[in-house]
Amino acid sequence: KEKTLAMIKPDGLLGNYTDEVKNVIINSGFIIFKEMILQLDEDRAASFYAEHSLKSFFPNLIKYMTSGPVLVMILEKENAVADWRALIGPTDSKKAKITHPHSIRALCGIDSEKNCVHGSDSPQSAQREISFFFQEESAE
Ligand code: ATP
Repeated sequence: KEKTLAMIKPDGLLGNYTDEVKNVIINSGFIIFKEMILQLDEDRAASFYAEHSLKSFFPNLIKYMTSGPVLVMILEKENAVADWRALIGPTDSKKAKITHPHSIRALCGIDSEKNCVHGSDSPQSAQREISFFFQEESAE
């Protein structure tokens, strides 16, 4: 079965959305294969989001992602990558509340930055992100 990397971001953990998000995960047929709470430092956050390093929002993104602990999970299910992306909804939580009211970002996100959760956007990203956090795992 396919694996993907899911993350509850600092606003999600601080807002006590962990149990609610995990219930959605389980009820949607995913298995939580591994999980870990960690605090990202600036270097690790910048390396995780390296593709955005030239964007204007990058400094704020790093502040946000290092503002508290995150919960990273390896989720397993057939079609896990695409299904988890569909479940979390669009990047901008404000828009998600209108266009995808049942999405996780509509449930616990605030705006286009503080959007509560992350999901790998392709099987290649999933592989990279899973080994980024869980050295011993591969996405296969
Ligand atoms: P993620 O990669 O976290 O799952 P995503 O793929 O939906 O999110 P990206 O475009 O990859 O969105 O942006 C990465 C993260 O950067 C977003 O989740 C959000 O926290 C932040 N971000 C994106 N766009 C903006 C913006 N315009 N202003 C502030 N923060 C933003």
